[in-house]
Amino acid sequence: MSERIPATLIPGDGIGPEIVDATLAALDALGAPFEWDRQVAGLAGVKAEGDPLPAAALDSIRRTRLALKGPLETPSGGGYRSSNVRLREEFQLYANLRPVRTLVPGGRFDKIDLVVVRENLEGLYIGHEHYVKIDDDPHAVAMATGINTRAGCRHILDFAFEHAIATGRRKVTIVHKANIMKALTGIFKETAEQLYEQKYKGRIAMDTVIVDACAMKLVIDPWQFDVLVTTNLFGDILSDLVAGLVGGLGMAPGANIGADAAIFEAVHGSAPDIAGKGLANPIALLLAAAMMLEHVGRHELAARLRQAIDRTLNVDQVRTGDLGGRASTAAFTQALVARIRNG
Ligand code: ATP
Repeated sequence: MSERIPATLIPGDGIGPEIVDATLAALDALGAPFEWDRQVAGLAGVKAEGDPLPAAALDSIRRTRLALKGPLETPSGGGYRSSNVRLREEFQLYANLRPVRTLVPGGRFDKIDLVVVRENLEGLYIGHEHYVKIDDDPHAVAMATGINTRAGCRHILDFAFEHAIATGRRKVTIVHKANIMKALTGIFKETAEQLYEQKYKGRIAMDTVIVDACAMKLVIDPWQFDVLVTTNLFGDILSDLVAGLVGGLGMAPGANIGADAAIFEAVHGSAPDIAGKGLANPIALLLAAAMMLEHVGRHELAARLRQAIDRTLNVDQVRTGDLGGRASTAAFTQALVARIRNG
């Protein structure tokens, strides 16, 4: 038997437990090497421990440095900060890798194969926001501070270039808004251009595009892009956009990667509108599990999982409602497990 790899498992909220069960069934059928330490966070954490990010969950990730996580809801009110943002900060998960690939051919966009690399710790996401009261209006003015550092830009840009080269990609596109936010996103573009000259010229192509034009080009001709790297907020928006090119949020996995840990998840949220109804598409989390297998060097298991997903969708034609099918989460999982076992 292969070496066991300790990993933290957080089922999460809403559809989280349903898609995590589906993913565990697939990983069991594959004989994946993970030894799970199950922890709670999000609303489940508030219920169990009075904290959306209990110390036990943090300690577990500190120990395993590896986690698979369902979506976490941030309770509104009560002064809670987003658990997802806290996790990224706690473990300095500076890179958010969000690949999308067409798995169901014949949709509006075919043969999509793109990667969005999102800076995960800086920009307008740092939460330095406040209101200014004027007369009797406490919310008369709203202000937010964004911070991008040279070091943070270098870190994420190096990650994007190295990842693109290691995975045989042809081009890295720098997405910015340096024409308007000349300092905040100008530093990102400037750092990219310097880094490219110093380290990457001749090894891979690079170009730059303004974020609004990028959004339009992604819808008109997404095939012109390959790897997109951008600052935090733009990355958040563009990764949902590219998920839409391949059938929606149910198809988009994400990896949060830092020097101290890596946390794998679906891009989507807890989808409370369909939670508990057996309707959720587990593919985003299954693809996140495939990325996790690749992260620990088990490429052959990841390839088997990807192939089984492809055959379940396209040979067996078993699909959940968001993909136009009629299968429940459980029926899809059963078909997938059969494909993993029988090829
Ligand atoms: P958040 O703010 O946490 O991102 P949200 O409710 O804005 O949460 P999602 O939870 O991602 O966004 O859901 C957006 C829409 O996509 C919902 O209508 C939801 O039902 C649908 N959706 C999200 N994930 C899935 C999935 N895995 N399978 C099917 N539908 C999904």
